[in-house]
Amino acid sequence: MNDRSIMRIAERVECVLPSPPRAVFDLASTLDDVVDLTLGDPDLPPPENVRAAACRAIMEGKTRYSANAGLKELRRAIAADAEKNLGISVDPDSEVIVTVGAMEASFLSLYTLLQPGDEVVIHAPFWINYSQVVRSLGATPVFVYTKPEEDFQLTAEALEAVLTPKTHLVVLNSPNNPTGAIIPDGTLKKIAALAQERNFAVLSDEIYESLIYDGKTSKSIISFPGMKERSILINGMSKRFAMTGYRLGWAIAPAPVIAQMTKMQENIVACAPLPAQYAGIEALSDRTDPSFIREEFQHRRDVLYNGINAIPGLRCKPIPATFYAMVDISGSGLEAEDFVYRMLREVRVATVFGPAYGGECYKDFIRIAFTMKEARLKVAIERIADFMEKIRK
Ligand code: PLP
Repeated sequence: MNDRSIMRIAERVECVLPSPPRAVFDLASTLDDVVDLTLGDPDLPPPENVRAAACRAIMEGKTRYSANAGLKELRRAIAADAEKNLGISVDPDSEVIVTVGAMEASFLSLYTLLQPGDEVVIHAPFWINYSQVVRSLGATPVFVYTKPEEDFQLTAEALEAVLTPKTHLVVLNSPNNPTGAIIPDGTLKKIAALAQERNFAVLSDEIYESLIYDGKTSKSIISFPGMKERSILINGMSKRFAMTGYRLGWAIAPAPVIAQMTKMQENIVACAPLPAQYAGIEALSDRTDPSFIREEFQHRRDVLYNGINAIPGLRCKPIPATFYAMVDISGSGLEAEDFVYRMLREVRVATVFGPAYGGECYKDFIRIAFTMKEARLKVAIERIADFMEKIRK
């Protein structure tokens, strides 16, 4: 008898595919001397005062459960941050929930909103979790494929073309993982009008909003008239303050939605870890200046962009935000999956193949996360150049 016949696994879990970035990451960790550019996990430490706040919370015994929605002080700080950055007013008591990373905020939002049979529009390439969770809940992901030749820009017209009466939710991710594309204000405005006309909700994942480079900014769809009522905004500490392992994120949504998410929170994790919540309060205070994180990634972005574009056969478009690059490998003559595994085995550089983020239309791309220090990034670029030279011979 195999394990399966002893203990039946639920279909909603079996239908979830193993994560390709994790598969490459796991293989990379069995090999020596790999430069790992797979996961979006910054190598920088959080600002010192934030680390100190976490330690202090532990030493002072602030290590018990909090309210399901999170510490009131933290929710107040999140609401104030949204007011300052997005120009919207948020009630910290009823419109905010603190979660275990933006990942849990995203899961909880989809879990709370979706019923079997609903359609959820997701623009591709996409962060893999959305489609996995949507499928697991018996809903149907419907993809809008953005094109490399259009700089992976989502258009309202392409989105409108896939709407049906079953469309319950549209997921927006701007700036986008894996492309770094930012949805322009004009497109957001059109999507906001469509949402109201066609009556769908929007889940806006803005976790990379703090990593927009070259002095540019972006707007949130939640700040357009009529959108706060039909949007869930997701953000968190991971990328803005380099706090991935603290596992702290949040959602801002209408009070009835937050009430349901908070009820479910009790049944999933009860609350986000308390020391992380105290660190979060410190992170959002005036005492913290995280600008060094954006500056560092902007510098690494330049190193990677210039390095990749100097390699014959590889091309990389400008990267306006995030710490990911979608690199066009069509000049190699290999398909992305083959490229990734050969490059890992032959020159020990780990990346992720493009189709992992939305299927065959991204077969000419690999994703590189430039979360390594400059020196290591330069080693990766040299090795990638060696690999390209070898396969082009
Ligand atoms: N949303 C997107 C688009 C991401 O890329 C990630 C992580 O890589 C997350 C959410 C999750 O972030 P967190 O660490 O806050 O759970």
